Amino acid sequence: MKKTKKKKLKSFVLPKYYESKIISEVKNIRTVNEKRTDYSPTKLTIGKLNFYIPKYFGFCFGVKNAIEICYKTLEENPDKNIYLISEVIHNPDVNDDLKEKGIIFLQKSSGETIVPWKNIDKNDIVIIPAFGTTKENMEIINKKGIKTKSYDTTCPFVTKVWNRGNYLAEKNYTIIIHGKPEHEETKATFSNFSSEIPRIIIKNIQEAKLLSKYILDERKKDFKKIFKGRISENFNQKKDFKKIGVVNQTTMLAEETQEISNFFEKIMEKKYGIDNLKNHIANTRDTLCYATNENQTSIKQLIDLDIDLAFITGGYNSSNTSQLVKICENYFKTYFISSEKKLISEKEIIHFDMADKIEKKHLNYLPNKKKINFLISGGASCPDSVLERLLEKICKYYNQPIDKKKIIQDFLKKY
Ligand code: SF4
Repeated sequence: MKKTKKKKLKSFVLPKYYESKIISEVKNIRTVNEKRTDYSPTKLTIGKLNFYIPKYFGFCFGVKNAIEICYKTLEENPDKNIYLISEVIHNPDVNDDLKEKGIIFLQKSSGETIVPWKNIDKNDIVIIPAFGTTKENMEIINKKGIKTKSYDTTCPFVTKVWNRGNYLAEKNYTIIIHGKPEHEETKATFSNFSSEIPRIIIKNIQEAKLLSKYILDERKKDFKKIFKGRISENFNQKKDFKKIGVVNQTTMLAEETQEISNFFEKIMEKKYGIDNLKNHIANTRDTLCYATNENQTSIKQLIDLDIDLAFITGGYNSSNTSQLVKICENYFKTYFISSEKKLISEKEIIHFDMADKIEKKHLNYLPNKKKINFLISGGASCPDSVLERLLEKICKYYNQPIDKKKIIQDFLKKY
């Protein structure tokens, strides 16, 4: 066995119960022994069960940073009221744990008020979630004299998008944001560009196509009606499409983001000609974050395998998790679950149906074969411990004992 090399990585202090004996250990072994660009999946064999796990999954930099700040704030301020603007990340287990430990949420993910701002004063602590928050919320906080410097968990990859947008705005580009309009990050991004910048949110390629009709003057009516709540004040559809730049929510599907950028390039070429193109569309590469790219790239390494069943764990409102589910659904029978608790028994599972946006019950979901290949993974806000409990539960249903030490010893043999 080769000696494990040490690499310098920023480390975070997180509650131990988010780590796990197999999943976290395998992840650490791969991190220190392999190139970052090695996207091959991990395979763990337990009796007749094979578990395929993508190279990259689970807590990303921004999530670890946000969680560390929340728990540290709790520890250091036992006598203060600690508020979070809304969910710190989109994982129900993590949010529930923070609530149990005393953090109070001010708003729901939808923006609906839980605790009114009038109840908060300058002696309170207000934590900004990893998605960032709107300028309007920041104005209220600043007016109250609340200091947020040590409690702002806004992910640097989100701030990078804001900086990119503001740079484009200085050069008079209209910003098209590809994102989920109801998602906290997209709302924060929309709001954090300076207020004079014309900006619009589109959800997908279908909306990009619809928008292109207005850009090309092929359609004139209903613009404000169709994009209601998703355009900046005083948006002028006649004047504001002369120069455009596209940025995205950091957790969209990479292919769709690429398709949208390429599509708008063609549209502006059609309108202004190839020679003038660079004066009318900003050369923006996508603003997806590293974790979105790595998680999507690694799960795609599994699509040619003979997977019998895939489980993706994460919050149902988690954008990056839902993109992993979308990829898997194209190739395998896939269940989107918030945690292992959704495996009610070996006969029954409750899973989230993304099309209908509701949880559904499914019976007899576990395959019965000599050898079974599972894919298990989680979004950027899913703790390793959830994935490990999922693996344990599946093994229990198939009466396969788990020897954690041996699994790790066997895994280390390849290095
Ligand atoms: S998914 Fe990306 S943008 Fe979101 S918190 Fe993680 S690193 Fe930051």
